Amino acid sequence: MPLDPARTVAELKELRELTGDENGAQRVAWTETWERARSWLREKLDGLPLEEEIDQAGNQWWTLTGASERAVLIGGHADSVPNGGWLDGALNVVAGVEVVRRLAEDGQPAATVRLVNWADEEGARFGRSLFGSSAAAGSMDDQAELAERRDAEGVSLPDAVGAYGVSLDAALEARKQLEGAAAYLELHIEQGPVLESMDLPLGVVLGTFGVERHQVTFRGQAAHAGSTPMDKRRDALAGAAKLELEIREIAERVGGGAVCTMGGVVTRPGIVTSVVETAECLLDQRHLDGNQLAEMLSNAEAASRRFAQEEDVEVEWDRIWNIEPILFDEGLIELADESIREVAGQSHRLPSGPLHDAAEVGRAGVPTVMLFVQSLRGLSHTKLEDTKEEHLELSVQALDRLADKTIARVAAV
Ligand SMILES: [Zn+2]
Repeated sequence: MPLDPARTVAELKELRELTGDENGAQRVAWTETWERARSWLREKLDGLPLEEEIDQAGNQWWTLTGASERAVLIGGHADSVPNGGWLDGALNVVAGVEVVRRLAEDGQPAATVRLVNWADEEGARFGRSLFGSSAAAGSMDDQAELAERRDAEGVSLPDAVGAYGVSLDAALEARKQLEGAAAYLELHIEQGPVLESMDLPLGVVLGTFGVERHQVTFRGQAAHAGSTPMDKRRDALAGAAKLELEIREIAERVGGGAVCTMGGVVTRPGIVTSVVETAECLLDQRHLDGNQLAEMLSNAEAASRRFAQEEDVEVEWDRIWNIEPILFDEGLIELADESIREVAGQSHRLPSGPLHDAAEVGRAGVPTVMLFVQSLRGLSHTKLEDTKEEHLELSVQALDRLADKTIARVAAV
């Protein structure tokens, strides 16, 4: 049976009907609706010569055994945020179903092909993204902290995952799933405006941004708003305000896709009659190049000290979280470019701002690449998330070509 990309679009709509409501997708991991999506996927692949397995971290795998044991993995995540979009995560898995179907019906492939539906990519319920993929990659090391987490209703994470046969103690045993993995392919909506602005349906992802997240606290002196002359103030918000504008300059100067965001500022005492004593800023900086990311960070630190001096306040930096940039495999990037050119004429290479399961698999040492398909208006994590159907169909074709080329390469080694 030939590849039928229109079927993928129809199946995505079917999944939307089954697991969404008037507010959007409701496939939050470790819920009944998510389980419904997993059962639905199982039915879709029923009757094909595949072996299904759910690993110790809750990831759902189907294996099509090939002539070579070396495996090409195709992965995505069926889970969504609450009131999410119909495509984020699901496109990868449902397109993967179509490709695996086509491969299975063509007879035994030259290399083993495995489709994976990663568990809890979004971290929507417990604030822990990339749960299943980080366990499989062996990078999960926060089990002790995760054991303490509760959702908004007070249900603990161990209880919630336990209901689906997952225990934090055993989750890392999912690592054996990546043994023999020779390549990992993931198709995803862009979730940003770049491809749409270039009028291109598809692009190849070079890697995921490194991220530096800090809390930057400026400390001055609370003082009466009426009695304190302007030149006698130690205004913490002035330092924060200068830094917020400076990070734009830093991103522009460093270039190469650099992005810096001050996502929040909390001021104290936070009343209209007082100069601000403390301003706690949340700063997020991202770049695909580790050296340039480090330069952005040190530039922002130096600027904050300069502003603190100018405003006669103090500044302190605390790291909240960071991750190195993860670069995808050059050989697979070439194959992905070729696949896109074959189906859409023109390709484009771009970095990914958001993290994806592919980043975990890539940093575990498996050669990895992602394809992005255009997102309309760059919107995601909302029911307004959308992609033109013709572009969705092209994306299935491109994934199919890429799978074939990757299988041939993996089998030839
Ligand atoms: Zn996603």
